[in-house]
Amino acid sequence: MTTTNTSTAMSAASISSSDLEKLQVLGHGNGGTVYKVRHKRTNAIYALNVVHSDSDPTLRCQVFREMEILRRTNSPHVVRCHGIFEKPSGDIAILMEYMNLGTLDSLLRTHGTFTKPKLVDMARQVLNDLSYLHGHKIIHREFKPSNLLVNDKMEVKIADFNVSKIMCRTLDACNSYVGTCAYMSPEWFDSDTYSGNYNRYAGDIWSLGLTLLELYMGHFPFPPLGQRPDSATLMCVICFEESPSLPKQASEEFQSFIECCLQKESNKRWTVA
Ligand code: ATP
Ligand code: MG
Repeated sequence: MTTTNTSTAMSAASISSSDLEKLQVLGHGNGGTVYKVRHKRTNAIYALNVVHSDSDPTLRCQVFREMEILRRTNSPHVVRCHGIFEKPSGDIAILMEYMNLGTLDSLLRTHGTFTKPKLVDMARQVLNDLSYLHGHKIIHREFKPSNLLVNDKMEVKIADFNVSKIMCRTLDACNSYVGTCAYMSPEWFDSDTYSGNYNRYAGDIWSLGLTLLELYMGHFPFPPLGQRPDSATLMCVICFEESPSLPKQASEEFQSFIECCLQKESNKRWTVA
C-alpha cells in the first residue's frame, strides 16, 4: 500500500500501512470496517477505516468525496485524518485520529442522558463544529449523533463525510443523496412545500436541532418514542407532523434555540451563525 499525498490535513504522511497493527474492530459502516490500530514503532493509537470500494463505483465515489473534504479540513472540529492508503486492488484505507469514547450515539445508549453542564458544553461544541464546516462551504448532509465522535477530553468532533458536499465546486458524478433519512429535513422529501428560497445549508441545521433534542431526551425525538421507525413512517412524520419540541421543564432559551433549528420551511430556519 502507498500513502497518497494529502498534504494539508495530514500530520503523519510518512506512516505506511505495514507500520500498523490491527488491535480490534471498532465498527462497521457503509462498505467498510473501522479498526483500532497501533503504530508499531511509536505505539500511537489510530482508527483505520478500510473501505472495500474496488467493485462499487458509488462507494468509490463516496470515498473520494470524503478524501476531498478531509484534505480541506485541518481543525479541532473535525476528526483528524493522518493519511490515506490506496491498495492496488482498489481498497482504500483512511487513517484517523482515534476517538476513544466512540460516537455520541453510543455514549447516549451506554451512559444515558448527560448532565446539564455537559449537555451545554456538547451543544456549544457541535454548533461550533457545524459552524466550521459551513464557514468552509461544506454541507455535511448526515449530521447526527452517530457521526459525532468523542474523546476522553470530552471533545466532540465531526466524522463521516461520505455524503457531504462542497459548495461552489460540485462533485457532479456523485450527487445522488444517500444519507440516513431519520435526520433529514422536510425539504428533502417535499421540496415544493418546504424549500422556498432554498438555503442549501439549512438541512444540517435541522439535523443539528434533532441531534440536540436527542441528546437532551435520550432517544430519537420523533414518534413512536424509543423506536426507530421505517423510512416511509419517518417521511410522514417529518413532513406532516409538528416539529418535535423539548419538554416544558427545559429552559426557554433552549426551547427557542430548538424551534429556530426545527422550522419546517427551510428559509425560516436559522443559519449556523
Ligand atoms: P455509515 O456507513 O452510515 O457512516 P457508521 O457511521 O456506523 O455508518 P463508520 O463511520 O464506518 O460507519 O464507523 C463505524 C464505527 O466505527 C462508528 O460507529 C464508530 O463506533 C467507530 N469509529 C469510526 N471512526 C472512529 C474513530 N476515528 N475513532 C473511534 N471510533 C471510530
Ligand atoms: Mg458514520
